[in-house]
Amino acid sequence: MHFFEYRENQLFAEQVPVTTLAKEYGTPLYVYSAKTLKRHFNAYDSAFSELNHMTCYSVKANSNIHVLKLLGSMGAGMDIVSGGELYRALKAGISPQKIVYSGVGKRPEEIAQALEADILMFNVESVQELERINDMALRMGKVARISLRINPDVDPKTHPYISTGMEKNKFGIDMKTSFSLYKKAKDFSGIQPIGIDCHIGSQLTTVEPFLEALDKILEFYNELCSWGLCIEYLDLGGGLGITYEEEKPPHPKEFGELLTSRLKGIPLKLILEPGRSIAGNAGILVTEVIYTKDTPSKHFLIVDAAMNDLVRPSLYGSYHRIAEVLPQGRPLQSYDIVGPICESGDFLARDRELAQCESGELLACFSAGAYGFTMSSNYNSRPRACELLVDGANVHCIRRRESYQDLIALEEKE
Ligand SMILES: *Cc1c(COP(=O)(O)O)cnc(C)c1O
Repeated sequence: MHFFEYRENQLFAEQVPVTTLAKEYGTPLYVYSAKTLKRHFNAYDSAFSELNHMTCYSVKANSNIHVLKLLGSMGAGMDIVSGGELYRALKAGISPQKIVYSGVGKRPEEIAQALEADILMFNVESVQELERINDMALRMGKVARISLRINPDVDPKTHPYISTGMEKNKFGIDMKTSFSLYKKAKDFSGIQPIGIDCHIGSQLTTVEPFLEALDKILEFYNELCSWGLCIEYLDLGGGLGITYEEEKPPHPKEFGELLTSRLKGIPLKLILEPGRSIAGNAGILVTEVIYTKDTPSKHFLIVDAAMNDLVRPSLYGSYHRIAEVLPQGRPLQSYDIVGPICESGDFLARDRELAQCESGELLACFSAGAYGFTMSSNYNSRPRACELLVDGANVHCIRRRESYQDLIALEEKE
């Protein structure tokens, strides 16, 4: 059962025709399915039901406060990477005791904000960060609970920009340094090590890199134990891939079973930080063809969604499935589907076979629920798109379309 489905030859978002949404809210338009978000969260969370665990949704994938509230209402914790995300998570009513804070460049004011909120733990990514958190906690009369984010030097075999657990990446702390830091932790009275963390990358389509990292982390954990430092939490990050085109990523159930078989009986509380696998296929980006244009070498569809709305194709060369909202049954043609922005890198797809289209037609760009709106910008002074959350037959506008006034609001003197 899919919640973005063709019925009687038109695309629906749950119970609502996408054409109806586009007519009322305009394009480009992000449409999320509440039932899909819930189904994905449940599938992921229940895959670990035999383990003592907590699923901390990765806010950066889709940080709309209504998405956070929906997941929070299902018991999700949150993985944050900035003070802004902490603000959102708290505003969404997430308990600080379910918030973990990752990121290589936590600024002092962000650390203070998280200490003030009394979040569950900081995932610490460098020696200097550890020292700073310690100093600040002492100054504020607090004790910061921390994990070290271990860089296990594992190749996740994904796009280089979203590989994070290799030695050459900026993320985490190498195992040797980490071990000596845990040993030294008792000298830092402002911090309390309660866990080990790792996140090796995103859009992983096989389990092997996860298992390789897990083995290294468990070995590390055993060493810590034998040395007398018994930690409570094992945070394995996010990173489970989704199907954009023909990838066959492991189902969360399979992923859960594998981890469960390795972790059963080990007295650790597992934390997971899925983002893409919850939100990615729970959203589409709807766009209208403005012009068709034929040049001697190409057929272009010039659409009203651009790299400022969805940067993944431009940034990573990513594939997003694109299809007509109202299929007309016309013959296929090879298109470059491009936006209005003044960059040749502004495209949603290149050399894509699609039924012949005319101006005014609507297209849906699938798998746009994660790293879509959150990576959007105002480049070319384009107001950012509207976001809708559809739940059955109900449509909630969860972020109105930006206006021209919004574009200059922060530039005006009062
Ligand atoms: C981005 C990120 C995640 C989420 O990754 P997905 O691939 O979206 O599941 C989890 N943890 C950390 C630390 C991250 O930076």
